[in-house]
Amino acid sequence: MIVISACLVGERVRYDGNHKLDLFYKRLIDDDQAITVCPEILGGLQVPREPAEIVDGDGYDVWNDTAEVITTSGQNVTEQFKQGAKRTLSVMKDLNAQTVVLKSDSPSCGSSAIYDGTFSGNKKEGVGVTTALLKMNHIDVYDEHTFKAISDNLEV
Ligand code: SF4
Repeated sequence: MIVISACLVGERVRYDGNHKLDLFYKRLIDDDQAITVCPEILGGLQVPREPAEIVDGDGYDVWNDTAEVITTSGQNVTEQFKQGAKRTLSVMKDLNAQTVVLKSDSPSCGSSAIYDGTFSGNKKEGVGVTTALLKMNHIDVYDEHTFKAISDNLEV
C-alpha cells in the first residue's frame, strides 16, 4: 500500500479549491493499491484557504523552529502544517506503509523544491513540512514525477 497526495487523484483539496488530477495515480486508488492524504486538511485547514509559503527556510527548518509557514495576509499557520504532518505520519504508521507520493513544490508536500517564501512564484531548493517529517522517520518520499520513473521496479 502506498499513500498519495489527495490533490493528485482529483480531490479538490488545494488552497484554491482545485486539484491536480493525474490519471496514473487515480488508477492506483481505483485498484485499491493506494490511499490518499492531504496534510493541510489533516492539519485543520479549510478549502479554500489562503496560499502559504515557508519563510526563512524549508520544512526541516520549520521542525528546528527556525522557519515558519505564513499566508499571504501574514497569518502564521505553522502549527496547522506541523499537525498535518504528524497526522500524515500517523496514517503511514497505521498502514505500515513505507512509500508516499507527494505533490511537488508544495509547502507541505514538496520534496525537492518549494516556493521561496516571497509569494513571487519563485522556487528554492528544499522540502515541505510533511516531507521533512516523513524523511526524518525514514519514509520513502517521491513526487509525482520521480515515482513514475521508478514504479516499474517497485512492489506497491
Ligand atoms: Fe494537500 Fe499536499 Fe495536495 Fe497541498 S499538495 S493540496 S497539502 S495533498
